[in-house]
Amino acid sequence: MGLRGEHLIAGVAERGSGEPFAAAEPVAGKELPPAYHEAGPAQIDRAATAAQAAALPFAATEPQKRIALLRAIADGITALGDELVQRVTAETALPAPRVLAERARTVNQLQQFAALLEEGSWVDARIDHADRSRQPQPKPDLRSMLVALGPVAVFGASNFPLAYSVAGGDTASALAAGCPVVVKGHPAHPGTSELVGGVVAAAVKSLGLPDGTFSLLHGRLPATGARLVSHAAIAAVGFTGSHQGGRALCDLAAARPQPIPVFAEMGSMNPVFVLPRALAARGAAIAEQLAASATLANGQFCTSPGMVVWMAGEGAETFAAKLRERLGASPAGPTVHGTIRAGYERALAEVQKLPVTLVAKAAAASPAATAVAATLWSASADAVVQNERLRTEIYGPAVLEVPCAASRDLLAVARSLHGHLTATVHGDGDDFARHAELLTVLRSKVGRLIGNGVPTGVEVCAAMVHGGPYPAASDARFSAVGTSSIRRWVRPVCWQDWPHELLPPELRDDNPRRIRRTVDGSREP
Ligand code: NAP
Repeated sequence: MGLRGEHLIAGVAERGSGEPFAAAEPVAGKELPPAYHEAGPAQIDRAATAAQAAALPFAATEPQKRIALLRAIADGITALGDELVQRVTAETALPAPRVLAERARTVNQLQQFAALLEEGSWVDARIDHADRSRQPQPKPDLRSMLVALGPVAVFGASNFPLAYSVAGGDTASALAAGCPVVVKGHPAHPGTSELVGGVVAAAVKSLGLPDGTFSLLHGRLPATGARLVSHAAIAAVGFTGSHQGGRALCDLAAARPQPIPVFAEMGSMNPVFVLPRALAARGAAIAEQLAASATLANGQFCTSPGMVVWMAGEGAETFAAKLRERLGASPAGPTVHGTIRAGYERALAEVQKLPVTLVAKAAAASPAATAVAATLWSASADAVVQNERLRTEIYGPAVLEVPCAASRDLLAVARSLHGHLTATVHGDGDDFARHAELLTVLRSKVGRLIGNGVPTGVEVCAAMVHGGPYPAASDARFSAVGTSSIRRWVRPVCWQDWPHELLPPELRDDNPRRIRRTVDGSREP
């Protein structure tokens, strides 16, 4: 399939009516054809209106139809083969092995949602039978389950051009729930978006689903995404990206005449705490592991560890020296687009003005126009507590080390943290028992606690929580990764004393879908 620079609006491929833009190749900086034209207001309106028209018929489809859709998209992405891998690499400078791994993850996500629908219990069906003889008042028959919310607008991040993009986790979970999707493609990888969007649109068409089930709009102006979020037909938003972007969309959604939920996954510093016995026993190994995690993909992960906190004592010097050595020797490398590099340099300049010491700076030499070099800063616990900027993500390979004199400093740093996606604790022997309060504080700050590991590498599975208290995410009750992320796109509906033959199959007494349900307070086997 050749790229044509087209939007996909309710099954129709067409050029945008706005200004042209093109992807830029991150190493040489040259533009990559074709040109894409910004989606115009009428095109945004058509995509959203078609999604609204598709909402009820798509929500009413049999699970088998949506299972077929998810599997067809998964197969179609794989079938794009080298063409997709080469385009992703050209647009992002991510190496082919990483792209192949991300493609496998994207396909796996789609397959996991298909399996979730096949099993069926995710709808959380609850049945409370009537008790007409109850005194003083008879009890009615009540049955509830989760139903689709309506059209979802999806905004993907630049650093995951497949797994958090056009057919990434947000789209897969929304389609699985029965919600039409309108994607606003990331302007850093429009060609990747067009290729994957073509696969989704073809799957929708081949299965005879309503045209408005899926649309892809291209754009690089904030006004384009803003118009989509403000459209009355849109019922919810999925966003992965910067805090600035996520917050802007949350504010916009809240100010609509009819406010809608925005599930935004934003930045995170992912603090790492190294406790005394672990530091003494394996400080050098932890430093190696940490430096490798912080420089993976040049720090372009929302789970990249940006802060490491430890207590003075045995092993501290070895740990600090190894961290300095590894980060200082790390090669500079490209980021996925020039804005990421500019943001990294801007953040370093802000931090430099604060009470910090520069401990290590990797050589900046790189042929890539968008390259960034690893940076290691040091700051006292007091400085971290007093300066919010030191507790805020720097997107890229930057680490802030915080050596502490006593465990109360460790605790003070932890208490000062706002919400993060993860916190990691390294501990041996009685470390965890001796720092129980630290662990309790950390649990209140994050969505995922990691023992003796690294925060990068987000497993896609039922138990994963990728989210956390604000500002890591806009709603700490939900995960953006794993099968539980489907809960973002549904709402509960209750049927009271409803004619039995009109109930959804999931709520009928004979349980034709054979799903596990909660009946009169007990979970069915
Ligand atoms: P970004 O600049 O926030 O862009 C993400 C998407 O949102 C793009 O489509 C962008 O379109 C749109 N957007 C941004 N600001 C907007 C606004 N004010 N109004 C309307 N639309 C807006 O993110 P990015 O380029 O991917 O930058 C990387 C950031 O993502 C990092 O901070 C990183 O921590 C975060 N991230 C988070 C996660 C996570 O799961 N929490 C995962 C990966 C990355 P335009 O460019 O056209 O405005």
